Amino acid sequence: MIDFDIPADLAALRDEIRAFVNDKVVPYESDPRLTRHGPDDGLRAELVELAREAGLLTFQAPKRFGGREPSHREQAVLFEAAGWSTLGPVALNCAAPDEGNMFLLGKVANTEQVEQFLLPVIDGHQRSVFAMTEPGGAGSDPNQLNTTAEFDGTDYVINGHKWLITGAHGARTWIIMARIAPNPHGGDGPTLFLCEGDTAGIELERVMNTMDRNYVEGHGVVRLTDLRLPASAVLGEVGQALRYAQLRLAPARLTHCMRWLGAASRAQSIAIKHARERTAFGKPIGEHQGVSFMIADNEIALQQCRLAIWWACWTLDMGDRGTGRHESSMVKAYVSEELFKVADRCVQILGGIGISDETPVGMIFSDMRAFRLYDGPTEVHKYAIARQVLR
Ligand SMILES: Cc1cc2nc3c(=O)[nH]c(=O)nc-3n(C[C@H](O)[C@H](O)[C@H](O)COP(=O)(O)OP(=O)(O)OC[C@H]3O[C@@H](n4cnc5c(N)ncnc54)[C@H](O)[C@@H]3O)c2cc1C
Repeated sequence: MIDFDIPADLAALRDEIRAFVNDKVVPYESDPRLTRHGPDDGLRAELVELAREAGLLTFQAPKRFGGREPSHREQAVLFEAAGWSTLGPVALNCAAPDEGNMFLLGKVANTEQVEQFLLPVIDGHQRSVFAMTEPGGAGSDPNQLNTTAEFDGTDYVINGHKWLITGAHGARTWIIMARIAPNPHGGDGPTLFLCEGDTAGIELERVMNTMDRNYVEGHGVVRLTDLRLPASAVLGEVGQALRYAQLRLAPARLTHCMRWLGAASRAQSIAIKHARERTAFGKPIGEHQGVSFMIADNEIALQQCRLAIWWACWTLDMGDRGTGRHESSMVKAYVSEELFKVADRCVQILGGIGISDETPVGMIFSDMRAFRLYDGPTEVHKYAIARQVLR
């Protein structure tokens, strides 16, 4: 009944992605354009061209947009291969937030919006942002949304303050969440708007200094002041922002899990090599039980995470069995906690060099810390899971 076989064509594509990331992308990990605010746009553009040449760019896109449209289970295999380097998904154009944004726009955007805002992102020529989180407002609880959109009879006028907005610096396609107040002209409630990043009224106040550096151009603080958008800028239907955010989040949480599984596997492979080669107290450190147990715990955790991801993907592939919201919540909470422990043990096995940039393990560890926070902190997932179970 349960079949874990990976079909030959999927395995071939996985191996192609793996070889591309290992041979072409890994050498860029020491490029100075990988800054404390993540890879800059110049580095991203160069990597994207390599993936284009290799015929692997945006492989996850729907067939109608030129992609290969893998199922969720197939994505689990392919995104893990892409995540071997934190720059892999950037090159292949399957990194956050673009990957989740492309998914959402593919589901909800109308023909004109697809043309203007989605296709250039799929082509790798421009980036996108999803602007929800606010200082003092929307965060774990999106119902606290403070950004307002007032319809003046002609345009929506948007005012608010956002932060932690990944890739805000230089992105062209902007998805902004704002609350429309009850009004005589139409619907109200949290709504998504689509616009160009250089529209008057959008001001990038600063790029935040954070402990991760895997997202292109880091995370921005953004002021929205009298941002005027026409009614045609509404993405989907008025008042449906939270439903659309959930539509985006269930698969997006899982693709985060897949990419980080690839990165954690890389850290484990480096730790294994070190445990074989480094000696202490008369033998390779891997022969000391303390180290061998850490290696074994990692191996068990990696495989458990892989199976959990595949299971949640299966529920999404089944479609008619629900949204996968509950399943993706469970898997995201579990995988983000477990993979972080894997990365931590890898740092420990490496000794002092574990916290240096002599290997990518230190970077994987600090980049991965944020994974337990975004797309729902662990506690919020547990809160939602318990509510569902207790209902
Ligand atoms: C690397 C990174 C990238 C991000 N990119 C984006 C982006 O592109 N766009 C965007 O809009 N946002 C982005 N975010 C923001 C992210 O969505 C929020 O950090 C997340 O939703 C949590 O909100 P918050 O930071 O305001 O934490 P808060 O809501 O202030 O929560 C703080 C802590 O309170 C606890 N908590 C909250 N609710 C509960 C509960 N019900 N039960 C128990 N404990 C609870 C949790 O421990 C939580 O970590 C990003 C965040 C990070 C770290």
